[in-house]
Amino acid sequence: MDNCLFCKIIKGEITSTKVYEDSEILAFRDINPQAPTHILVIPKQHIGSVSEINENNSAIVSHIFVKIAEIAAKENLTNGYRVVSNVGEDGGQTVHHLHFHILGGEKLSEKMS
Ligand code: AMP
Ligand code: ZN
Repeated sequence: MDNCLFCKIIKGEITSTKVYEDSEILAFRDINPQAPTHILVIPKQHIGSVSEINENNSAIVSHIFVKIAEIAAKENLTNGYRVVSNVGEDGGQTVHHLHFHILGGEKLSEKMS
């Protein structure tokens, strides 16, 4: 996707602070952190959002969640953390490339919205 910010980060056209990378996914620090630890995990394949996950592409989501658990452990989020994926206008999604936020490092708000 030519005009996708996260595709540009994957291609290295925009720099990011990488936390984890393999052939399928990339994890990097959010540029505007909402918690002491705020990491984004994205598939290298362009998928627009959770609403575009289907039987043909869902294996990547399983892989992402395996790595989320590993990243959280490596970041010492031993007291817990939150995984969030915003979808569409009402969900507050601003970058239309599937991503999972990992938020932690402090007691997070009990409000979900
Ligand atoms: P969302 O609002 O769920 O679509 O999340 C998009 C996230 O991407 C926001 O938390 C932004 O702070 C983050 N973001 C935008 N541009 C960059 C960038 N160049 N590097 C790292 N994170 C970014
Ligand atoms: Zn993209």
